[in-house]
Amino acid sequence: MTAWHEKTAHEIRDLVRRGEVTAVEVTKSYLDRIAAVESKVDAYTQVWSDYALEQAAAVDGRVRRGEDPGQMAGVPIALKEVLCTQHGFTTCASKILEGFRSPYDATVVRKLAQAGAVFLGKVNMDEFAMGSSTENSAIKTTRNPWNLRCVPGGSSGGSAAAVAADMCAVSLGSDTGGSIRQPACLCGCVGIKPTYGRVSRYGLVAFASSLDQIGPLTKDVQDAALTLSVICGKDPLDATSADLPAPDFTQALTGDIRGLRVGMPRECFTEALGPEMREKVVTAIDVLRQQGAEVVEVSLPHSEYAIAVYYIICTAEASANLARFDGVRYGFRHPDVKDVREMYVKSKSAAFGPEVKRRIMLGTYVLSSGYYDAYYLKAQKVRRLIKEDFDRAFEQCDIIATPTSPTPAFEFGAKTADPLEMYLSDIYTISTNLATLPGISLPCGLCASGLPAAIQLMARPFDEATLLRAAHCYEQNSGIQMGKPPIA
Ligand code: GLN
Repeated sequence: MTAWHEKTAHEIRDLVRRGEVTAVEVTKSYLDRIAAVESKVDAYTQVWSDYALEQAAAVDGRVRRGEDPGQMAGVPIALKEVLCTQHGFTTCASKILEGFRSPYDATVVRKLAQAGAVFLGKVNMDEFAMGSSTENSAIKTTRNPWNLRCVPGGSSGGSAAAVAADMCAVSLGSDTGGSIRQPACLCGCVGIKPTYGRVSRYGLVAFASSLDQIGPLTKDVQDAALTLSVICGKDPLDATSADLPAPDFTQALTGDIRGLRVGMPRECFTEALGPEMREKVVTAIDVLRQQGAEVVEVSLPHSEYAIAVYYIICTAEASANLARFDGVRYGFRHPDVKDVREMYVKSKSAAFGPEVKRRIMLGTYVLSSGYYDAYYLKAQKVRRLIKEDFDRAFEQCDIIATPTSPTPAFEFGAKTADPLEMYLSDIYTISTNLATLPGISLPCGLCASGLPAAIQLMARPFDEATLLRAAHCYEQNSGIQMGKPPIA
């Protein structure tokens, strides 16, 4: 029999609802698993053992009393450090928020709790979600369960590593330019970034408000559909959340993709993509073809500007959003200051890491008078062109298929010396955020090195149903057995 911690969320939910296992037993199995492998992976920043068992006992009480225990009954979940929770700390893996306790729960946290989920704790990330390897965390170094010498990706590296190592059934991440999909790719799990507006951002500490979305990292597509159904929907506390019904996305997983048109953007299959990744992604697209999809070539001519546009817009928004961390209201305040100005300078200088400082400076620069038109305004115009490329492509197809990441997981330190090298990790994921589309990363085999590869699928805004249907059909028919990571 497989251990409880190896099961998917929907399996756990069904077993708990039927009373075949208690949520407490499942939670204990996960806590034991954390105790066994966390010292190697270091995904967690906080493990809430007692609180998790209390939540699980409450779920079991509901089952015993014959009450509906919810759609996520007894499912053990890990939360990225960027999500506000009343329990524990919310640090964004930054020294500046050391010891910060949120007075409220993020909407996604509240919805999961109402659905009977059990929170195991919080997981590591790049400071303020800026990075692609989790090496920018001020707390700890998280390792890739497939190869402990390699990064788990980022910024939701702890979320991906925890799912891959069976230290939670589902985790939540956030994605501004690829931070759910790229670590999901590098750690061999499923990661979906919903359409901008699909999921409330209330209680997600803002990095770049026009790009940020919360989404799940899971062991399979059905769990991604289930979790998204629970967390999505209009929220009066987030004016950018879309006023659309919250559908049950698991209903979309019909297995039938006959007639679906899948676009391959020619710009994504150039020499920039290594031969091994290309072979894996092309083979995955062939699986969709064999299932009745029609594959067409499309073009996204402005995608070559995506990284440049992203690093103007996201830094501009970050410089505004991070202005609130000034030593007055939250977290760290430098003890040795003689006036308020010195308090700002010394607190920020001491407590922000180098990547966060770089972005605040870049963002302040592109917004400054004299440069605003040349950089920020221009970038907004090119963002529109990128969006229009997708609008045109989606006249010819229903799904767009690309790699998720140009390379599999890389070794620690391989890209830290040159920020641009690191930024290029998101070359295939960033346009999705700029165009506000939904995107999913799916494992599509292991490279010769033993590291996971992944394909990314994208769909029209708010067409997560088609996206998940295609993803599920691929997963069911790929014939790929990813197996479990060796954690060695
Ligand atoms: N790696 C990208 C960055 O550093 C994306 C991060 C994210 O999606 N949060 O900004």
